[in-house]
Amino acid sequence: MSDTIGIYLHIPFCKSKCPYCDFFSGKATQTDYDRYTDILKSSIIYWSGQTYKKVSTVYFGGGTPSVLGADRLSKLLKTLQNSFEVLPDAEITVEVNPDTGKSLDFEKLKRTGFNRISVGFQTAVERELQALGRIHTAEDALVTTKNARVAGIDNVSLDLMMGIPYQTRESLKESIDFCASCGVKHISSYLLKIEEGTHFDKIKSQLSLADDEEQAKLYLFAVEYLEKLGYKQYEISNFAKPGFESRHNTAYWKCGEYIGIGPSAHSFLNGKRFYYGRSTEDFEKNIIIPDGEGGDEEEFIMLSLRLKSGLNFREFEELYRHPLSPLQLKKIGNFANAGYMELDEEHACLTPKGFLVSNAIISELLA
Ligand code: SF4
Repeated sequence: MSDTIGIYLHIPFCKSKCPYCDFFSGKATQTDYDRYTDILKSSIIYWSGQTYKKVSTVYFGGGTPSVLGADRLSKLLKTLQNSFEVLPDAEITVEVNPDTGKSLDFEKLKRTGFNRISVGFQTAVERELQALGRIHTAEDALVTTKNARVAGIDNVSLDLMMGIPYQTRESLKESIDFCASCGVKHISSYLLKIEEGTHFDKIKSQLSLADDEEQAKLYLFAVEYLEKLGYKQYEISNFAKPGFESRHNTAYWKCGEYIGIGPSAHSFLNGKRFYYGRSTEDFEKNIIIPDGEGGDEEEFIMLSLRLKSGLNFREFEELYRHPLSPLQLKKIGNFANAGYMELDEEHACLTPKGFLVSNAIISELLA
């Protein structure tokens, strides 16, 4: 087990609710922001007493952390720096919505120690932004990334969505070109998923949504085109210029330990998984829900196969003191013959075609 951990801070506020989103977030007032900042500060101090591990990554996610503004975000980061031992080269990310991001004081954030931003961009096409109920323009995302870079935060990621109503291969290409023209180092590219209980779930029959085949075509096109522009795929949905892979998220996929602070935030610490429920009141009372042991071999296989570097046979054997079973190796060989996996003496990893059906492949390997 590594002697470092990641810290995730959940900010459960958004200026408006996007119709496809099922994250724990909602509208709030400035007074709510102040109160929540104080609750988070107390919780950070509490958790610093639960581990002596050094912090190698910090991630402010949500919701929309940027609604808090640079002062509150900086106060939270300072509390964390004063409570934990944060490594000097720690990756410190804050998620930013282009709407609030364009007027955010990035210089202040940079001075406090933030060195990476992740922008909820989604698409450069106005009609698609409207279909998603987004409250910003593509221009806002451009201004946000530019302001961050002028302030010295050069490590910028954009979220890009695929399978949006009305999206075509050409409009997806336009959005990817837009991301590249912003000069960003990292792109997270997700397929729109209709989550249960969301507004999109209620009106899905009225939405002109891409079917599975169209979604697959969009995904495979994005993988190929992003690679062409120098964004190398390193995970199912993540692409980066060399050296700019997200260290925080990569640690999740490598079974690294992390503490998630805030309602709905998940943790993995001292071999145990646990989380806070979707209630700020329960979070304030520090009601934690246990979620079993973590880091077993099934989890290792499942998480490793999310990464392009794939499943390392020797690493598996060293961790679990036995090799993969002959049946698992046979299945991997069959998937490789069918073009879903790539295989050499040390690794097995999913191909882009394999990533599209990763859940089915992983279930089969673990059956
Ligand atoms: S801004 Fe992000 S977190 Fe907030 S509602 Fe929209 S998708 Fe969800």
